[in-house]
Parts: sequence; structure tokens; C-alpha cells
Amino acid sequence: MPAPTGILSDLDRVLLSAEEIHARVADMARQISADYAGQLITVVVLMDGALFFVADLLRQIDLPIRLVTLGASSYHGGTQSSGQVRLQWPSGVSFQGQHVLLLDDILDTGLTLAALHERLQAESPGSLRTGVLLSKKRPRASVCAIDYCGFEIEDEFVVGYGMDYQGRFRNLPCIGILKP
Ligand code: 5GP
Ligand code: MG
Repeated sequence: MPAPTGILSDLDRVLLSAEEIHARVADMARQISADYAGQLITVVVLMDGALFFVADLLRQIDLPIRLVTLGASSYHGGTQSSGQVRLQWPSGVSFQGQHVLLLDDILDTGLTLAALHERLQAESPGSLRTGVLLSKKRPRASVCAIDYCGFEIEDEFVVGYGMDYQGRFRNLPCIGILKP
């Protein structure tokens, strides 16, 4: 095989190929479509990591969707959670009585999703579910129930398909592990 060039050459190995990701995202879209049949979904997305996942997922859901994006960070540029979640709450958006589906790229310590879940629950939604593309196999400080999970992965720092390292690698079509 020829050696990879471009940003792929910074990867130690590919964990999930673009094909594997697309097949699983399609499964998730089918399941979500069935579960929310006949309803309007308010999808709350954590930017920027979940951008590619959500763009692919939502385009395969044939239901009315209201999209709310928000920023949250706990990594602050490194490869380990700082343990402090900063939320950028959207102003003037009501979640009361809405069927809210909270989506993120990856569940690591669980702090981010737990913080957001708690914050959203306080807004009296009609229902509240959560979905992640990846979940790391590791003990968690905080947990909220995860209703949709794409893949369980080992406890390693991953990049690609929206996920970055210091702002780079989001545009990799696959998900992989960086060279040390
Ligand atoms: P948690 O609060 O669960 O520790 O972290 C969740 C957030 O941290 C995710 O939304 C994601 O932005 C970031 N994160 C966690 N693990 C990884 C990883 O392996 N790679 C990248 N690029 N980001 C991660
Ligand atoms: Mg994130």
C-alpha cells in the first residue's frame, strides 16, 4: 500500500473508516426516525466536534427538526478533560414542552453531557434524550443515560469526522489515533 499523504499521514492508525461510520450513522438515523415518528424534534448539538456527525445524521431523518447549536468545552485545547465545563447557552430559545434530542460527538468523562442534560431538564422539555457517536470504555465521573450510541471505543484520544486536536483534523473522513 502507498504511504498516506496529507493529514492522513499524521495518523498512527485508523479506528473507524468513513464507510463504517456512514453505515452506523444510517442505522442511528433509522432508529431515531422510528422512535420520534410523527413528532417535531428539537436537536441540540454541541459544536464543533459533533458538526459532521449531526450533518450526516439529520439529513437521513425525514421528520421536522428544529436545530439549536451551542458551545461547550472542557478540553481547552489539550488531550484530557480539564473537569470544568463551560457552556455557551443560546439566548431566547425555549425548550418547554419540546422533544429534545441532545447530540454530541464523544462521551469521555461524561461531564459535558451531564451538565447540559441537567441544564436542559430544568427547561421543562416534553422529553429529553441523548445520543453520541462514540463512547469511551472508561469509568465516568458523571453520567446521564445515553439513548443512542454509535460505537464503543477504547479510552484513547481520537481525531477526525469533526473531532480535533488543537483545531486540526476535523476534516478527516475517518476517525483515528494520532502518532505520538
Ligand atoms: P467529556 O465531558 O465527556 O469528558 O468530554 C466530552 C467532550 O470532550 C466531547 O464533546 C469532545 O469535544 C471532547 N473529547 C472527549 N474525548 C475526545 C477525544 O478522544 N478526542 C477529541 N478530539 N475530543 C474529545
Ligand atoms: Mg465536544
